[in-house]
Amino acid sequence: MKIDILTIFPDFFHGPLDYGIIRRARESSLVTIEVHDLRAFAHDRHRTVDDRPFGGGEGMVLKPEPIFECVEMLNVTPRGQRMAQRSTESIILLSAQGQRFDQNVAQELAALERIILICGRYEGVDERVSDFLADREISIGDYVLSGGELGAAIILDTVTRLIPGAVGNEASTQQESFTMQAELKGDGPTSTCASGGLLDYPHYTRPADFRGMAVPEILVSGNHDGIRLWRRRAALEKTMRNRPDLLNWAALSEEDKQLLAQITGKKITTKESDHDEPDY
Ligand code: SAM
Repeated sequence: MKIDILTIFPDFFHGPLDYGIIRRARESSLVTIEVHDLRAFAHDRHRTVDDRPFGGGEGMVLKPEPIFECVEMLNVTPRGQRMAQRSTESIILLSAQGQRFDQNVAQELAALERIILICGRYEGVDERVSDFLADREISIGDYVLSGGELGAAIILDTVTRLIPGAVGNEASTQQESFTMQAELKGDGPTSTCASGGLLDYPHYTRPADFRGMAVPEILVSGNHDGIRLWRRRAALEKTMRNRPDLLNWAALSEEDKQLLAQITGKKITTKESDHDEPDY
């Protein structure tokens, strides 16, 4: 996979690119990441990339020319063709006004061959970038950052770890919080505890007793089915406590519904239509 980042602060990415999974994925050529300095595409002596907004108002706006020229230099498939066919390339503008980034969007992006991330600054980016150059706007959450670089780093990290081979134990990326691809067969998830759209189950490591805080006994029992069941129940409990909204979309097995009934003390009924409000 190739990821290009367009920014006026290229040095910002030294940290995020140089550690852990991203560094290893780059070193083993699973991903090629290039950071492009938008100032290199400015034409005046001062390498100006921003200007005052038409119509007046606060702050400065990133000019369109450096962004368009940088993307043109990258030889991306023209926008018309990208839109017409299911393109394997996507140009993304980081924006607080964009579609909210989540694990599903990350999975969508990880399936592409190339993504181009445009980082805004100041009051934002000339709207023609969104209207005529980018395929989509993505927001990393309902808050306003000073620039798109932090958002780009988050997308970079989330997407890279989904590239096959990037994480040592690939199964682990299938079992994490929010991941919908739970393989539900028979009465429950087949892996130790596929998330199925829930939060992840709690993890513990040695020592088994830390300052009197003992790990749950079942985890050191060697009883594999007991452990699987305990983890699923713990994932359901944690999801109910911290993110009950996720239960609206989670892939729940019959076993999950029984566990939820035990947790809540209520019988869990399934609605005729898939995703109507649930009874939790
Ligand atoms: N005036 C804009 C607004 O109210 O939506 C905010 C501009 S913000 C100060 C500058 C840049 O930071 C944006 O162009 C965008 O690239 C980035 N940014 C800010 N919040 C973001 C978010 N939640 N997700 C992704 N990018 C964000």
